[in-house]
Amino acid sequence: MATPTLTIDLDAIAANWRSLDRLSAPDVQTAAVVKADGYGLGVDRVARGPCPGGARRFFVAYAEEGAAVRQALGPGPQIAVLSGHMAGDTEMIHDLDLTPMLNSLEQITRHLEALPGHAFGVQLDTGMNRLGVEMLEWQAIAPILIEAGPELLMSHLACADEPDHDQNLAQLETFHQMTDGTGLPRSLSATGGILIGPKFHFDLTRPGVGLYGGRPFDTGTRVVTLSLPVIQTREVAAGETVGYGGSWTAETVSQIATVAGGYADGLLRLLSNRGAVLWDGDIPCPVVGRVSMDLITVDVTHLAEVPRSLDILGAHQSVDELADAAGTIGYEILTSLGHRYLRRYQERGA
Ligand SMILES: *Cc1c(COP(=O)(O)O)cnc(C)c1O
Repeated sequence: MATPTLTIDLDAIAANWRSLDRLSAPDVQTAAVVKADGYGLGVDRVARGPCPGGARRFFVAYAEEGAAVRQALGPGPQIAVLSGHMAGDTEMIHDLDLTPMLNSLEQITRHLEALPGHAFGVQLDTGMNRLGVEMLEWQAIAPILIEAGPELLMSHLACADEPDHDQNLAQLETFHQMTDGTGLPRSLSATGGILIGPKFHFDLTRPGVGLYGGRPFDTGTRVVTLSLPVIQTREVAAGETVGYGGSWTAETVSQIATVAGGYADGLLRLLSNRGAVLWDGDIPCPVVGRVSMDLITVDVTHLAEVPRSLDILGAHQSVDELADAAGTIGYEILTSLGHRYLRRYQERGA
């Protein structure tokens, strides 16, 4: 078949969720972050797959994404919206029972006026300067707001993938200052914070990338395999070039395989001529020339036989290893995965 195939192991996502859940104390809840279409893997399947009997709490970025998760899961599980309560979202938040994490005085006012009594949380800014209520404002409104019964006080760490970074402890201290004595459930950590240690866990953790087999959860299980079928193979003579711009020149006579898949599928053009490899089983095969929209050219001279397909993600190459070759992060590789793939979901059940 000439369609690139993306295989997504739902059992691996569930196993990663359980492993991350075990890293915190039994009374700490572990949610699942499924924003950006479940980190590119298909939120309708991903939200049903992980956390068997576990996470009944999910986080998305926007209310629209929450709608997709509600459709997949039905009533019951809590779906928290990180962007909070935006203008125009009131009906959706109400009808689909979403829980906005309110980020500003404006959002707090909007929510309490439009949907009094409807569940909400508050996101606090402890130093990332991206989203959330800042210290002075919080001190002014906390006494009143706490009366309204937020379900969660949360904040986000800017440098959690570097456990020794000073900003982690600084944000932890600020979070304590802002929330100690409130008696409300608290959450500070995504995948990175879970790995730093228990004092960052509070009542609820919010892993995302670790569920999907990405750094910094290095001991996690691989979740995705991406196989690109070989469309054609040709021999090029020494001195001939391959691909757009003639940017790669064969030094000796070479066998070049052209595979299906390109930058339109999220296989970034930055992977051109930077030492990226595809795999035939456990044999690496270098990408040569430029990645085009739908095609990648690969040097297979050293293979005894040209295979039907080559893997760009799988046992030998994680999303982070591929990201390293492109000068980016695994998160971006995952969330760039395109819509042309044949998607296969593997699920044996727990
Ligand atoms: C994306 C996000 C997460 C999940 O982060 P990972 O690093 O993928 O585990 C948790 N909390 C917030 C606020 C986020 O934006």
